[in-house]
Amino acid sequence: MSTNPYAHPNPSPQPDGSLGDLNDAQRGAVTHAGDALLVVAGAGTGKTRVLTRRVAWLIQQGLAPYRILAITFTNKAADELKRRLEELPGGAQVWAGTFHRFGSFLLRRHGADIGIDPGFTILDRDDQLSILKAIYKDLDIDPATPRPVEALSMISHVKNGGGGRPPLDLTAPGIAASFDALREHYIARLRQADLLDFDDLLLETVRLLTECPHIAEQYHQRFGHVLVDEYQDTNVVQRDLLLRVLGPDAGITVVGDPDQSIYRWRGAAVRNILEFDQDFPDAEQVLLERNYRSTGHILGAAESVIERNKGRHAKRLFTEQDDGALVKLTRCRNGEDEGTVAAQQIANWQDAGRRLDQIAVFYRVNSMSRGIELALNQRRIPYVVVAGTEFFQRREVKDALAYARLVANPKDEAAFLRVVNKPRRGVGAASLRKLRDFAAMHDLALGTAASRAEEAGMSKRAANGVKRFLALLERVRAMPVAPVAPILEALLEGSEYRATLQDSPDDLDRSRLENVDELVAYAREFGKQEPEGDLRTFLERAALVSDQDGYERGTGRVSLMSVHAAKGLEFPCVLITGAEMGYFPHARSLGDPAGEEEERRLFYVAMTRAQEELSVTHAARRQTYMGEEHRVPSPYLNDVPSSRLDNQDFAAWGAPAAWSEARQPDPDAFDFELPASASHPSEAMAALQHEAAVRESGPGLEVGERVLHPYFGAGRLEAVSGAGEDARVTIDFDAFGQKQLLLRHARLEKLP
Ligand code: ATP
Ligand code: MG
Repeated sequence: MSTNPYAHPNPSPQPDGSLGDLNDAQRGAVTHAGDALLVVAGAGTGKTRVLTRRVAWLIQQGLAPYRILAITFTNKAADELKRRLEELPGGAQVWAGTFHRFGSFLLRRHGADIGIDPGFTILDRDDQLSILKAIYKDLDIDPATPRPVEALSMISHVKNGGGGRPPLDLTAPGIAASFDALREHYIARLRQADLLDFDDLLLETVRLLTECPHIAEQYHQRFGHVLVDEYQDTNVVQRDLLLRVLGPDAGITVVGDPDQSIYRWRGAAVRNILEFDQDFPDAEQVLLERNYRSTGHILGAAESVIERNKGRHAKRLFTEQDDGALVKLTRCRNGEDEGTVAAQQIANWQDAGRRLDQIAVFYRVNSMSRGIELALNQRRIPYVVVAGTEFFQRREVKDALAYARLVANPKDEAAFLRVVNKPRRGVGAASLRKLRDFAAMHDLALGTAASRAEEAGMSKRAANGVKRFLALLERVRAMPVAPVAPILEALLEGSEYRATLQDSPDDLDRSRLENVDELVAYAREFGKQEPEGDLRTFLERAALVSDQDGYERGTGRVSLMSVHAAKGLEFPCVLITGAEMGYFPHARSLGDPAGEEEERRLFYVAMTRAQEELSVTHAARRQTYMGEEHRVPSPYLNDVPSSRLDNQDFAAWGAPAAWSEARQPDPDAFDFELPASASHPSEAMAALQHEAAVRESGPGLEVGERVLHPYFGAGRLEAVSGAGEDARVTIDFDAFGQKQLLLRHARLEKLP
């Protein structure tokens, strides 16, 4: 039985120091006596297990736990590691977390030494964009040259020292000057308002350790050993940080698998692992070759896919498990059928005695979860969408957090812009513009300038609104910084944010209210787990949540997630959907050889999550944002020997009539209990009801009417052709021009 510390519901025994359940190579790694150790090994060979055990072993050898720094890929993994160490005396004092959390930790303590206010706020991508867009307005730069998202990627690219293919072509006419102005202002704005983006968390930490040798020295003394999991996905700045935090006498252990490097697009440099011996000439390398996770067919199929990558060092990998079940491959007619197959596959696994939380469904892009959710909803199969960031990206959750951020950092411009007029306080665009001009003229942060609203020339009404807003923040600032939940409550009540949602006639606002309440509940939970945890720590947690942090063990539900979020996890039964060109490999990587190799690694990661059952689906046609498309199966499927495959056709799963009684979809009943933690049940439900309504009303739309499409937005219905299943509509979209769509899939909404 498998015991991955991060995923499987049957937790492995606590690391009590007995090494009996390790193989020789693993034991060698755990008890390695040298200063530098590199463990490179394929999927499921026990790298993470070795890392955890090595921490325990070091403690048992007498290294004080607080002198150990363990860097994990997600915060969840760090929490898990700490939980396992609790049994050991002092185990809880091991510093475990992601690189970003570590950067944040150092900067809060010592940032002042390099001019960073310890009260800084961490910006997410959305916030970065909103600041950048405000700069576009201030500087009157045309948002088409360059587009804000491109400018942002390019800013990050430049900050990280360039290298590789730049995301923006600066030689195009007019781009360079706009970009330089944007970049300069962006950096200045962040500085002025004590804001740090994700890049800064790493870069400024490196700067801190470089410019302040006495601080670096302090950590050289402190950390006796540093360990890093998933080293293949670290970037050059992270490597730099590592080298700087590591004292001359400290030991280092890194584990990773170059075949699972899947964050190149985020700057990960697989050469960190390949050139580890250049950074540490005395490093010893341990290879692990026995895979404990998967059956023979699954491992063999995965190996035959990854073998085709050119720039790779071949590794030997074997399993002592039986071949097990063949990898099931199902061709579906379209995305809808794929949903049906997914639901049926899950039902079959359930019939064979699997618990739902032993099953995971993967997809390449998050937007694909919707189709699967619909199918599972219809069959009443409980599921959770694993997307930790999603909850924190919701409008209302971001609003509530923006209030809290302003309490912690009055200068936070992104937060100020977000909620100064939410709910409405009469602070319109014109007033804000005046305030921004005033702030720029006096070189003030927006939040600071706001206290001089009248002087800035705002209207009386707007100035009053701003005053009320600032007064609330002042009142809340006088509260104790912990516990956090009462702070949030005071803000939501005092701003009338909650009341506004409560009184709204719109159902959507009521579901927003639930999310706001969920955030308060999350704060309460945080208070229980970290009684000392103050507002800043809470905000940091919220800002550094990653997708994989959403994964919970033992929920009793199927987990739906992107392949990127599945890294490091394992499940007895895995279903990979959308195994088609365009997803595997992703369209974005086509024609870029390095990108295509990474896509192949991603597919390898997906396959190697499976322990006993692996099922793969692809559709011949699919509704994408481009309209309905023909789809070609993923070329990776051709690399799997047919002797390992059980090829199926949609028809083999039986028409929906084959559904057992108990799982018959009931068209009237959408009232089943939804998981409280499912990320967006209400949306899925709304979509489901909406779809049913559209199907019922048939074409029910008139030429000339305004309609709304989930991907293309608003447009005008130009023509309807065909009937029934084949009815097609032609729509002239405001933003995308004319498109023809299959009505059945179009999910149109009438606009008034
Ligand atoms: P990945 O490459 O996906 O991160 P990994 O190399 O980190 O995988 P682990 O997650 O540590 O691998 O281990 C994979 C599975 O094998 C886990 O369920 C783990 O408990 C189990 N395992 C590892 N080593 C042994 C062992 N010596 N005996 C029994 N089970 C083991
Ligand atoms: Mg691992």
